[in-house]
Parts: sequence; structure tokens; C-alpha cells
Amino acid sequence: MKASGLCGSDFPKYRAETPSKFVGGHEPCGIITELGSNVNNLSIGDRVMIHHYSGCRKCKMCNIGYTQMCLNGTKVFGTTYNGGHQDYMKVPDYTCVPMPDNLSFAVGATTACGTGTAYQALGKLNIPKRATLAIFGQGPVGLSATAFAAANQINVIAIDVNPYRLQLAKDIGAKYIINSKQNNTLDNILDITSSEGSEYTMEVTGIPSVRNLALNSTANWGTLCFVGEDSGKDTTIQISAQIIHKQLTVKGSWTFGINELENAAKHIIDNNVPIEQIITHKFNLKEIAQAYEIFENGECGKVMIEW
Ligand SMILES: [Zn+2]
Ligand SMILES: [Zn+2]
Repeated sequence: MKASGLCGSDFPKYRAETPSKFVGGHEPCGIITELGSNVNNLSIGDRVMIHHYSGCRKCKMCNIGYTQMCLNGTKVFGTTYNGGHQDYMKVPDYTCVPMPDNLSFAVGATTACGTGTAYQALGKLNIPKRATLAIFGQGPVGLSATAFAAANQINVIAIDVNPYRLQLAKDIGAKYIINSKQNNTLDNILDITSSEGSEYTMEVTGIPSVRNLALNSTANWGTLCFVGEDSGKDTTIQISAQIIHKQLTVKGSWTFGINELENAAKHIIDNNVPIEQIITHKFNLKEIAQAYEIFENGECGKVMIEW
């Protein structure tokens, strides 16, 4: 292992009373040091990111590279199979994705979950240059989306409650930032967009009231993508008023296929996307408790374990 990221979806396990029997960490990145006897598509010394799921490799979902949706049951590294928070990790050969030479291990690791998730969601939104995109939530996924979109000349409105994360969003290219704790977010978005609302919206918090705000601040005929997972509470929306009568296109996006992982990494290098900048804290494996404390406290971008 060379780098292993911390992700918001680690928290339920981090806070659980009974420890998991599997090693955590689902953003693994490293160097091949040993090969199984039948492996012939990789070599010792290869730098790889891990698409952190295994599947049957026979079903329709596995065939398109989405082993996380395997129709015969998936294993998730870091949750139902050992993950990246260890010195060496044993993985099936097909989960290893070779990295571009100038991609750092830390960026490779974050691409293997949070940043790759932002990349796929932006692909689904398919936003033209100079259009406006509101991104609700500036944790590691939202910040990655801000970095990709701003690098592609999209006008990003970054929304969060945390000043540290908002400043980081600004530093990596957000055109506008809104602290939704201190401001009326809907009014601010309307001010920025000549009272129309944002043409494109990405919701990355999963909080019911924020999901509603995301729908309400999207312009007529606009497109919204839900990315943030349920926060444990049901979300109530009015489909007629909030979607149908506004002629919205509403999408969902969950993680990414193995091909997108390779594409995301290439895109970061080819377009100089400042993903390195969102990795604000690095620790070694012995300091992992401290790493999770900082991540939970939220005064950070991406938190990374490095070797
Ligand atoms: Zn994750
Ligand atoms: Zn399958």
C-alpha cells in the first residue's frame, strides 16, 4: 500500500460499537509486490489503483465494469472484505487499474472512491462550458466535483456550512461560495442567476432539507443529480410542484465503473485538475485514530493515510 483514503461512508463503521472483522479503507492505491500463480495481466512494480469491489464477473453488471452492482452478490473492500488500511492488501487481479505515471498515489487513492464518484456524476450532468452548476456539500466528493467543473470552465456555486471547506472550494476555482448556515441559500442562488436558479445542480449531502433546497434552487428545465446517500431520514418531496411543473431532469449517480476509474485518472492529468489540493491532511497508519478525528471534525478536505 502507498495511500489509502478516508471516506464519509466509513463513518457508520467507525462509530459502530462492535468492531468490523474486516480491515477498513476502500480507497486503496499502491505497488504490486507479489503475484498469484495465474496472474498474467500485471507485473511486480506496477502502480495501481483498486476498484474496490469484486463480483461474479459473469452477470450483466459485472460485464459492464460495475462489480459493485453484481447480480450475484458483491464484496466491498473495506466493508465485507479487507480494505486498504494495512501495509499489504490482497486483491483479485481484475480490480487493479494501472495509473498514469504522473498521478500521485494520494490522488490515485482519492480517485478510487470520492473523486471518481464526482467524475461519474458530472458525466451524467453533461454540463456545457460557462453554464452554472450549484454543488450542495463540499466534502471530498463535492470538492472533487468543484475542481473538475471549474477546470472545465463551468461556473460553480459551492455551498456548505463549513468555512474551511468553502475557502478550499474557492481556492480550487469555485466562482461563488455560499455559507448556508449564515445565508438564505435559495435567495443567494437566485441573486447569482438573474432569478432563474441554477441550470445544473449536484446534491452531495443526502440531508432531506438540502435535497429539497437543491430541487427548489434548480432553474426551470434544469438538471439535477443526487449523489449524497440517505442520511438515515426519509426525504419528502412534491413531485408535481418540484419536478414535473419545473420540467426538471432528475438523475441519480452511485460510484463508478472500473473504466471510469481509468478515465477519471487520465482526465485529472490531461486537464491539470487540482485534486492534489483537496487532500489537506496526510497521516501514517499508526496515526489513523487522529486521522478519523480530524475528518469527523470537518476542518479538512480529503484525509489520507500514506506509506
Ligand atoms: Zn467511499
Ligand atoms: Zn456479477
